[in-house]
This record gives sequence, C-alpha cells and structure tokens, in this order.
Amino acid sequence: MAHDTHASTDEPDHETPWDIDGFHEECGVFGAFGSNDASVLTALGLHALQHRGQEASGIVTFDGSAFHAHRALGHVGDNFGADSPQMKELRGHIAIGHNRYSTSGNVNPLMEIQPFSSELAFGGFALAHNGNLTNAGRLRSSLIETGSLFQSSSDTEVIVHLVARSHQEGVTDRLIDALKQIDGAYSLVCIADDMLIGVRDPHGVRPLILGQRDDTWLLASESCALDIVGATAVRELEPGEMMIITKDGVQSLKPFQQVSPRFCVFEYIYFSRPDSVVEGRGVYHARKSIGAELAKESHTEADLIIPVPDSGVPAALGYAEESGVPFDLGIIRNHYVGRTFIQPSQKNRTDSVKLKHNANPAAVAGKRIILVDDSIVRGTTSRKIVTMMRNAGATEVHMRIASPPTTHPCFYGVDTPSQEQLIAAQMSVDEIAKEIGADSLSFISVDGMYNAIAGIARDAEQPQFCDACFTGEYPIRLASGLSAKRVSHGSARK
Ligand code: AMP
Repeated sequence: MAHDTHASTDEPDHETPWDIDGFHEECGVFGAFGSNDASVLTALGLHALQHRGQEASGIVTFDGSAFHAHRALGHVGDNFGADSPQMKELRGHIAIGHNRYSTSGNVNPLMEIQPFSSELAFGGFALAHNGNLTNAGRLRSSLIETGSLFQSSSDTEVIVHLVARSHQEGVTDRLIDALKQIDGAYSLVCIADDMLIGVRDPHGVRPLILGQRDDTWLLASESCALDIVGATAVRELEPGEMMIITKDGVQSLKPFQQVSPRFCVFEYIYFSRPDSVVEGRGVYHARKSIGAELAKESHTEADLIIPVPDSGVPAALGYAEESGVPFDLGIIRNHYVGRTFIQPSQKNRTDSVKLKHNANPAAVAGKRIILVDDSIVRGTTSRKIVTMMRNAGATEVHMRIASPPTTHPCFYGVDTPSQEQLIAAQMSVDEIAKEIGADSLSFISVDGMYNAIAGIARDAEQPQFCDACFTGEYPIRLASGLSAKRVSHGSARK
C-alpha cells in the first residue's frame, strides 16, 4: 500500500472513472483474536460468509512480530483449505479476512483483494471493509495530488492513506481521525499494534457482531459465521462503535458524533443469510413475515405457491402459511452456478439464469401458480422464470415480490446497476407485469415491509432503516459526483 501526507477534503468530487466503478460493493468480513488457530477460524468464518462475496478472499494474520497474508481469486474453500501450504504460513494469534465480489475489469485484480496490509510509520496495519464510501473519489483525488501512490481502485485504500497521514499519536486515534473524514457505510476489521479493532459507521448501515469462543474473541459480518466456529454471539457492535480487542479484553469507544441508526433493510430482504440474526432480528423470520404480509396485501386465487430458489424460499413459505395455498417446488436450482446478477453483460446474465434454474413440470403442469421472489432488479430472472413456468404447463403465472420496487441504486455496499437498468425505475408495475409476461404482479409496500420486519410504522421524518433503494431517500450524504441517474454498473466490488 502507498502511504503519505495530508488530505484536503474541500474540493468537489471529480467525475473520475474510479468514482463510477467504485461504489458497487458487497462483501463479508471476519476477525479473530487470541487463538493460535486464528487463521483457521477466519477461513471457516469466511466460508460461512461466502454469500456476501464470491469472487475473491484474503486473510492477513499477525504473530506478534510479523504480518502474513494470502489473497486469491475464487471461493474460500478452494484457497484456504485446512491442510493447504498457505494456511500453514498464516501464523499468528490475530487474523482478519475478507470476501469480495468481482474483480473483472480491474487492471490487476489481485491488487484489489482485501485485507489490505501496509507498513506505516507506527508499524503494520491491516484492514478489511464491508460497505462503501461515498466521498472516497474526492479524498482519493486529493491524496493523489499530494503524493499518495494508490495500488488499487478500491475506496477502502483511502482509509489506509488517511491513517498513514494522520498527525494523531496512537493507531486508534489515527483511525478515528481517518474515519471522521469519511462519508459512507463501513463495517471494518483491522489489525494494528497487537490489537484487533472493529468499527461500524455512525449510521450502522452494515452489520458487525462480536463473538467469543473460550479465550478467543471474534468479529463477523453475520452471526452465521460465529455459529460455524462454535462461538457464542456476545453482542452486535452499535452504530458508531469502535471495539478494541487486546489480550486484556474488549474496550468500547464511541468516537463519532451520534446520528440516527439506519441499518440496511436489504440485509433482511436478500443479502444476509437466513440463519443469521442481524440487528437483533432473525433474518429467516423477517423473510417469512414479509411473505405473510405480502399475502395479506395482494393474494390472488391460485393452486400453488412456488418459490424462486433460494432467495425467495422463506418469503414463499410465509406467503403459503398465510394464504393457506400449498407450497411446492416448481423450480429446481442448480447450485453449481454463481449469482446471475453479477454477470457483466445482459447476454451472460440471461444465459446464466437458464443454467441456474429449471422448471419442474411434475409440480406446475396444469396449475395456477404464484411465484415468490425476494426482488426484481433488471427483470432478467423474472422474465425467464415466468416463461419457463408457462412452458412447463402452468395455466396462470402470478408474481409476488417480497420487497418494494427497486427504483434507486445503492451507494452503501449492495451491488445494484444504474437507475436506467432498474426496471422499476423505468416502468409501472403493470408495465413490468407485461414485460415479464406475468398474469399479475405485486410488490410488498414500504409500510408492509417495515411492519413485517420490525412491527413498526415507517417514520417519514427519520426512517428507522436505510431504505434508499426503494424510496430514494439516501441517509448519508452523497458526493456531488454521485446521483442515482449517473451510476453505471461497476466492476470493483468488495
Ligand atoms: P434481476 O434478474 O436483475 O431482476 O435480479 C433479481 C434477482 O437477483 C432476484 O432473484 C434476487 O434474488 C437477485 N438479487 C437481487 N439483488 C441482488 C444483489 N444485490 N446481488 C445479487 N443478486 C441480487
């Protein structure tokens, strides 16, 4: 990593290619302190978090005197097997790890893989980030203008440079100083000065949870990563909390100005694993109750409820329970195909949908069906699946979506395409129904979603979640270069 002097933050963001490519981010982070198996625990944690990023992973460890790192493209299991030579190299009692999405399009994809680690004035510093920074383009430009040498196209690297340039004394104060200059969403895990540090941004957009297994402390994006290592969930970090883990225990700091929490509602809809508990709520239960609410809002007569696997399954179960209509498996998913959504071109995406899902005529032939999926983004999946169901003999195909229409891109860490590619930003619900070939289409309402997830009414003045992808109300300042309309589908994700 490059590291240098001081950053000016006064200038408007420039419309650089980095700005355009840098804000479609998805990832998972994990950290372990106090075990000689820290790297093994981290590899297992990353394996449980694979759904948050499938393109590349990295682990960095610290053994008391030196840092060790391994980063690779591909799945965790392919690169961090228990007996692999690289795991033997990853010695130390502290480890952090990271899963990220696509590196395609970057000049040197390996340079994009986190955790980043560098030798700074105070010693070694390693960092992994889930989320997305909204003013990183401007900070990056001014850092470069004043001499910083960036090695990646990642917004996360800005944090490393700001820490390196900070005039504060200790590493904790340097990190606080750096983060105070940053806007956006971040859940971070860091190693510095024989400490494991976890931080959540002041709005708490992305999750981060503390766990414990005997004398080992763990930090993870989701509780499913604590379960896999047999750890107990201690508590989630609060929005704006910095947790410092040393051999003496855990210390909590609240160094940032307090703002209203805005946890990402899409974590419940799609992103988190259903067996995780995030922000104190089970994701599975949230999804089932969204399905039930959807049935209350927009049920129509049908013979079967068919989930679009896997993401539509809990909502479809909730829908079936509420409506009393039988649930059946009308679509079979091939699990050896990656997420269709992230394919670079529409042609690839369409082909992958075919590779991923197939109709099960034994269930749907001659039946009026209600298909339940978690979301419609471009409409690629729905279009294919509705046709598939008709070809398999379904007599009516109704589509029910367990989220409101996605009308705005996310700038805080979920991969969404530009607004021009969001079908719900371009068409009415009736037009989308026609476009995907469904007999009817309904999305859950925003109020219904709040009620189902949290049993609350949405506060219009101060919404309790970040729901910007459905409402366009962005809680964290966007840099002047960022607007829903200008965003194109990026290639750098983490
Ligand atoms: P689309 O085919 O473009 O309409 O995308 C909708 C499908 O992609 C749904 O089946 C979702 O489960 C899935 N999906 C929605 N959001 C995302 C995301 N951010 N990353 C990956 N997949 C997603």
